[in-house]
Order: sequence, then C-alpha cells, then structure tokens
Amino acid sequence: MDGTPPTSGLRKRHPESDPKGECSKSLAFCCQFCFKVGGRGVTLFRCKGCDVTLYCSKDCQKQDWPSHKEKCRFNQRSSQASCEKEDKELLTAFSAKHSYTLLKSAVSALSLSEDWRRCNDYALVVKVKKRAERARPEKALYAVAAEVFAIENLPRKDDLLFAQRSNKELEIRTDSIGSLLVILSAPELHVGVIRPLGFTTDFIAQWGGPGTPWKSELLKALNEGIVA
Ligand SMILES: [Zn+2]
Ligand SMILES: [Zn+2]
Repeated sequence: MDGTPPTSGLRKRHPESDPKGECSKSLAFCCQFCFKVGGRGVTLFRCKGCDVTLYCSKDCQKQDWPSHKEKCRFNQRSSQASCEKEDKELLTAFSAKHSYTLLKSAVSALSLSEDWRRCNDYALVVKVKKRAERARPEKALYAVAAEVFAIENLPRKDDLLFAQRSNKELEIRTDSIGSLLVILSAPELHVGVIRPLGFTTDFIAQWGGPGTPWKSELLKALNEGIVA
C-alpha cells in the first residue's frame, strides 16, 4: 500500500464529455456511461430494468451493462423493499383503525367465553387486499376472508410465539386477563402484520356468546370502513 488510490476499473469518460463542465455539477442528469448532459439535443432515458439509471443512447446502455448489471438488480430490490415497507405501514394503519372491531370479532371467533386460554393456541387470520383507488387508512384495504387457525399450523409460527410472549407486557398495561393475536395477511402484497390485542372478562361476557355472526359483522365493518 503506497496510499495512491487504485485507478484500474474506473470508467473511461466519453471524449466529448468535459469532466469539469456541467456534468460534474449535475451528475444526476447525465448519461451514466458517457456523462453527456441531457437537453440541447440530448434525450436521456431510464434503464427499463431499474427505472433509475439514465442513458443517452442504446449504445451507451449496452456498453455500460457489464458494470450496471449488479447495480440494476440492487435498484430493483430496493424499490421492491420500499413498496413492501409502504404496504406494511398501510396494513398496520388499517389494523390500528379497526382494532376494536378486530378484538370484538376475535373474542367471538376464538370462543373465548368457553375458555379464554384458547387465545394461546388459536389466532384469527384476516385476509385482505389493497383497493385499487387511494383511500383513507380505514378503507385502504378490504377483507376477503376471516378464519381461525391453530397457531401451531400457521406459517411464521416463531414470530407468532414471540408476539404472544411480548403480549404479557400489553396485558399489564391494558389491565387485561389475556391477549389474543389477530393476523392481517395480504398475500398479493407479500406482507402481513401481527396485532396482539388485550381483553378483559367484561369483553368476553359481552361478546363471546356462541353463535355470534362474527364473520359477517367483521367483513361488513372492515369493508365499509366503519370504525368502532
Ligand atoms: Zn451516453
Ligand atoms: Zn438498470
């Protein structure tokens, strides 16, 4: 090591480009291969793969591909990750708005009036889809199904058991006798959220009766965006 930065592997500049010119001022609006600035007869377009990197010609894009290939995949992955993050936030906001309805339905669905400890073995899973049009958080999604599953048989069982353990804190905070898990799953978006909800004996006495049409009531409330 002699302290000189390595020069090999650095991309050669196009002879027409001026490294001290406009290009260095607005590198973001240059062809990423020849550094020609957009405008004045130069039309830049984005790489179709990642929709990020700019080129001035098919030829520049082709020549840049060996070095862009990896970055292109990285760009694609990060845009996918940010979509997932946004969808997850949407799901979280939706479940927060409807937490009272979800709790009420889950108390009935899990038949907690028979034995409230069933909340340790079963969870309510609500399958949701995103609405095509933009809407307020409580209407941003709609429910297509709601079913009770044994936690044992659910995917991501470890996450669920972890959420269940952290429920103990919630129980103390909300003065609940126990807490249950509601899972909102959006398979098309590849995201899901686990929402632990604490319940009291009063809740069970009020809502837990057998034969409660919890499913139709739940779907109606979620799909009409009724916030209880
Ligand atoms: Zn170019
Ligand atoms: Zn690309």
